[in-house]
Amino acid sequence: MIHELLQRTRSCRSGIEQGGLLLGLRKENALQITSYTLPQKWDYATPVLFNRHVRGHRELAQEEWRRSGKTVDWLGEWHTHPRGVALPSMTDRQSWLHLARHTKNPMVFLIFSGCSIYAGLQQVAPTSFRQLSQIERNEEAVLLG
Ligand SMILES: [Zn+2]
Repeated sequence: MIHELLQRTRSCRSGIEQGGLLLGLRKENALQITSYTLPQKWDYATPVLFNRHVRGHRELAQEEWRRSGKTVDWLGEWHTHPRGVALPSMTDRQSWLHLARHTKNPMVFLIFSGCSIYAGLQQVAPTSFRQLSQIERNEEAVLLG
């Protein structure tokens, strides 16, 4: 899934930031990302900013949720840094914290920049944030921890 998204974000050289939701399963001590949403027409994007509009993404997420028999949950978000490095900005960190507080669940965040991926996990109660690193990788999946 992450490979596919990485390929996709690399092949699109429009120069503006892209982003979407990460969807998947909440497991005991793990989050399994199974799908994602792509930028929607209501989003606002520039080379240095991506503002996801709730419209479009929410409907796609709900559709996934229904199709999966109500097991697929909103796990986090992804976005690209077409010009910068794969590191979160202050704005990113603030919006991630805000989102995790809103959902009251651990949320995972991915940033794609060229060939690199940044992964972070935001937790609430107690509030903590840490960068995830790649533990294992094969054709089908990337395991982060
Ligand atoms: Zn960012």
